[in-house]
Amino acid sequence: MVRETSIGVCEHCHTEFSYYLVHNGFNDSAYAYCDTCEQCTILTRSHKPIPPGAVLSVYQRISNDVESFLKPCPCGGMFRADADPRCPHCRQVLSPVLVRKYLEGNAPGTKKGWKWQNNWSGIYSIVIANKCVSDCWKLQ
Ligand SMILES: [Zn+2]
Ligand SMILES: [Zn+2]
Repeated sequence: MVRETSIGVCEHCHTEFSYYLVHNGFNDSAYAYCDTCEQCTILTRSHKPIPPGAVLSVYQRISNDVESFLKPCPCGGMFRADADPRCPHCRQVLSPVLVRKYLEGNAPGTKKGWKWQNNWSGIYSIVIANKCVSDCWKLQ
């Protein structure tokens, strides 16, 4: 799927990067971020097979008990319930509050009252620099 990307800027190194937001209500999904790089994973409820024992609560970031069912990130890091998105250049964690300026500035819905959720765990997730692997469940 081709998505329209917008441009954000890192609050640490001031370098620009592309991103898009994913509304996890549209495809019944949950998500997680890598603890090392800018990669995210989107986990859809309709994906088969979800490993037996994994309880996926959708519309939000994954819970801790799901971590052990996921493959490592391609970079060698891990997708964690408490990992936040990172800048693709300096790999520092982006503040969910400081990003609001450009997330709301770029979103067409802002004029109609859309507001950023101000956290990295709600219904919206962010894909930075197109780094997103879907349904990265470990094969048993
Ligand atoms: Zn990674
Ligand atoms: Zn940076």
